[in-house]
Amino acid sequence: MSVNIPEKYADRLVSMMQLDEDAIHFFWSPKDNVTIQLAAKFFPENVKDPLDYIRESGMVDEQSLPVFDVFCAKIESGILMGIETNSAGTDVSVKLPGSDDFVMCHLYALFLRDEDNKITDIHFNLRQYSLKEQFDRDVLTYFTSDKNPKLYSRRCANTIKANPDKNIAFIQFDVERFKLINETYGVDVGDELLQFINDSLAIVCTEEQPFCRLTADVFMIVTTFETQDDLVAFIHKMESMLCGYKNMEYRLVFGVAVVDDRTVHTRRHGDNASLARQLIKGNALENIGFYNTNMKSKLQKKQAIEDDMHKALLNGEFVMYLQPKHSIKTGKIIGAEALARWQHPTKGMISPGDFIPVFEENGFILKLDTFIWEEACARIRSWIDNGIPPVPISVNVSREYLQTYDVVEKVTDLLTKYDVPIPLLELEITESIDGTGVEDVVKRMKDAGFTMLMDDFGSGYSSLNMLKTTQFDVLKIDRSFLSEFMESARGRKIIEHTISMSQDIGLDIIAEGVETIEQAEFLSECGCDSAQGFYYSKPIPVAEFDKRLVEVNMK
Ligand code: C2E
Ligand code: MG
Ligand code: MG
Repeated sequence: MSVNIPEKYADRLVSMMQLDEDAIHFFWSPKDNVTIQLAAKFFPENVKDPLDYIRESGMVDEQSLPVFDVFCAKIESGILMGIETNSAGTDVSVKLPGSDDFVMCHLYALFLRDEDNKITDIHFNLRQYSLKEQFDRDVLTYFTSDKNPKLYSRRCANTIKANPDKNIAFIQFDVERFKLINETYGVDVGDELLQFINDSLAIVCTEEQPFCRLTADVFMIVTTFETQDDLVAFIHKMESMLCGYKNMEYRLVFGVAVVDDRTVHTRRHGDNASLARQLIKGNALENIGFYNTNMKSKLQKKQAIEDDMHKALLNGEFVMYLQPKHSIKTGKIIGAEALARWQHPTKGMISPGDFIPVFEENGFILKLDTFIWEEACARIRSWIDNGIPPVPISVNVSREYLQTYDVVEKVTDLLTKYDVPIPLLELEITESIDGTGVEDVVKRMKDAGFTMLMDDFGSGYSSLNMLKTTQFDVLKIDRSFLSEFMESARGRKIIEHTISMSQDIGLDIIAEGVETIEQAEFLSECGCDSAQGFYYSKPIPVAEFDKRLVEVNMK
């Protein structure tokens, strides 16, 4: 070695590793901001943070960057918070000095730690794979992490056996709506993302945390843990590292099965984690589900819905009900909301609360929504044709596909097909946690001439924020907001001011879920004249609605 190593580091280095002549070695003391190059020169003089330098100098192939960043994040968190393992490694494609081509290397870091497990110094070793090694590596990946569940199952069993005194969890996760990623960005990018997750898991997980890619976008990790909080913290940490691929927006959904009976086959724990994952899917607030024993029947229900849905649409089992909207003052019908019902041949009427969330998750909502929009247009046409003065029908637009599906075009086509004037079809969109994307679509719909209703206002999440950013025409006060807030004087004041605030900013307002005359009168006093709710009528079949429309409005 022809380098001058300052005395204070020399001791630590000698005991660390035998210098392999073919590799590039460097030693980093993050505390002192010192990088020492051993043997071959790789950096200019005085590089303080070698990882930072490697990243910024363009040495790393763009494809390798996301995984390289995960590796850096692991080391950074080890420096700040401590680390259990002695080493970390990753494969990275880099340009070595004097070469213009990227070559596949293994970057290996050996940690020196203090008594708190914090990293004090790191010895790095960067080594180009030989052709044979590359081949071996590919074969190994093929047979271990990626494609061989049997071998993986054995590793999990070993982990259970080797840790009789520790808690063990099977964690399964997938990329939420991965299909949509494939459709939006293309299959190649989808594949790259999965490869990134696989490579990052190799960095995040230790030897004692075997992981495996089970199928397309489903991964499994087995880990020991002390408390449930620790386990959740581990999942969050993993999530933050795996969610950084090329600024793409995606969410991971985790199912966790804590091992209670160590004698059953590992497959059972895996199945339980899978069940928990499938049931937490589509939950906007949480993405970690813990397995419990009543999950099985829930999942069976969900699967039954998925088995039947396509047939149901063909057989005409979905029907549109209409719920009238009334003027509180005049009692006249001023509009209607279209609500889907499923008339199942054997199970009877299934309510939207049971099937809409399932459809939103599996994408079938697109078909159902389109069907209801078309039914609404057809109904309006029949009123016009039969000399019944039409009222606007509002339809629900599921937020799930706003970004990828051209709602404006689809609805405009339907209006043309049925020759329905645009003011007669209104669109309801639910407020939600992340307003991302909604703003833009609402604007386009408004520009096209549609009346936009913000559904379920006050049911939580970010109502006010959405009001600020998104240009709705009408605000629909949610049933729970109305009933809960009407209970106290303070709450009533809030409703009153919400109504006057909406009017101030030029929004119309309608209250939904009006169940009593007191509620209707109170709303009227506050200046809100439009109401929808059981006090007036439940959602009813269209023929019944037609009759009522004629009776109430034409007398
Ligand atoms: P939503 O759009 O907020 O519809 C209003 C819901 O409140 C309806 O429930 C309606 O029956 C119920 N409701 C109306 N007045 C009252 C009342 O006075 N008291 C009580 N307790 N409830 C009242 P429904 O029909 O069960 O629909 C539930 C949700 O399912 C809807 O909430 C909507 O978000 C969704 N949904 C229904 N049909 C469709 C559809 O075709 N497409 C989409 N994307 N979502 C739909
Ligand atoms: Mg609605
Ligand atoms: Mg609503």
